[in-house]
Amino acid sequence: MSIKILPLGGLGEVGKNMTAVGFDGTYVIVDMGIKLESILGFDDANIGEMGKSELINIDGIPDDTPIRRKKVAAILLTHGHLDHIGAVGKLAHGYNAPIYGTPFTVELVKDVIREENVFRVTNELRCVNPGETVEIGNLSAEFIQVTHSIPQTCAVAIRGPGGSVLCASDFKLDDKPLLGPTTDIQSLKRLANDGPVAALVGAVRLEEEGPTPSESKARLMLREVMDSAASGGGAVLVTTFSSHIARLRSVVELSYELGRIPILLGRSLERYCLSAMKLGLVDFPEELGIYGRPNLVRRVLREVRGTREDYVLVVTGHQGEPNSVLTRIADGKLPFKIKKKDEVIFSASVIPNPLNISNRELLETKLHIQGARIHRDVHVSGHAGRKDTRKFIELVNPEYLIPCHGTYDKLEILANMGREMGYPKDRIPILQNGRMLVLGG
Ligand SMILES: [Zn+2]
Repeated sequence: MSIKILPLGGLGEVGKNMTAVGFDGTYVIVDMGIKLESILGFDDANIGEMGKSELINIDGIPDDTPIRRKKVAAILLTHGHLDHIGAVGKLAHGYNAPIYGTPFTVELVKDVIREENVFRVTNELRCVNPGETVEIGNLSAEFIQVTHSIPQTCAVAIRGPGGSVLCASDFKLDDKPLLGPTTDIQSLKRLANDGPVAALVGAVRLEEEGPTPSESKARLMLREVMDSAASGGGAVLVTTFSSHIARLRSVVELSYELGRIPILLGRSLERYCLSAMKLGLVDFPEELGIYGRPNLVRRVLREVRGTREDYVLVVTGHQGEPNSVLTRIADGKLPFKIKKKDEVIFSASVIPNPLNISNRELLETKLHIQGARIHRDVHVSGHAGRKDTRKFIELVNPEYLIPCHGTYDKLEILANMGREMGYPKDRIPILQNGRMLVLGG
């Protein structure tokens, strides 16, 4: 009887998360993500048109060679961020296995599959509500609700002969997440009672002590900044992660409170919001304008530019992405010019990679030159810092603590934390992509 853990991406890097967990020769794959910075670094990169080996070679998707010939019974997706689902279109067809995820995750995976132009992905998509357990042959997978920056995120506990393994890459412990339930502490305690063999725990934000502030804190920050921005009498533009539905709802509600009309502009904003609305995850007012198609975005901007003081424009572009609405406004490519008194609020931190840092800096410079006042980091993270991660580990109390989702310096921080908590060194293995860890047997 042996349990095998085979990371295929996400270790020693941020992005392309994918891990295989095996019990006596039967595996499940947890997540299939892309590393967006590797792909966007190539001019005119269109992931839908790119081949699998090309993407593996540029480090854009996990190299799944080590798991290809093994028996894979299921693909389990923890949540809908692209660094967890973005490679489904390229890799899933290689496995005769259904894909499981929460309804919102599955909805977003459908988009990924729709945009895939090279491979035909016919894996069955199966929805699992947070809190449910699915049977996969002689294995089972429990989807445990956790708070994060996208609705319906789960940690997945896989049970099989010899014990259970928890995959908890993205989570925070937020008492007031504003949208959806809090982290399901009871289920984590129940898991702890079983004595989980191993837990993979995300390390991406461990440079911060934490606890990571609640999403309700982000709303308070936004209220203060939006209030001051609106009092200037110019346009107020807000940009945040399109998948961060809780944050978007705060922006929409605060806009109305300020007596301004919110309008959402950009393709990804439209896609994520419509998916959330379709599933009843968010109750945006019926009259809320959400426009994704380029001609509609142009038309709306032309209509509102003369009475800009009446609106809050929620736009794509928080990382300075070249094709986003905000960047195109700054580049003079849309019928809306930034003027003095206009205020731009970045409700997002810069994802720390060279491409994003330079894109965002360039965008801010352009906006500043055109007269906008800029507000940065009106944001709280979706990932646990050291304090909340420690609490999480104490709660789950696994035999083996396996740092995942992060560069090696972050994985080391988690390993050090484990040692402080009394874990012997050999119970905190630092793994590498493509190298299998065998427990027991
Ligand atoms: Zn995430």
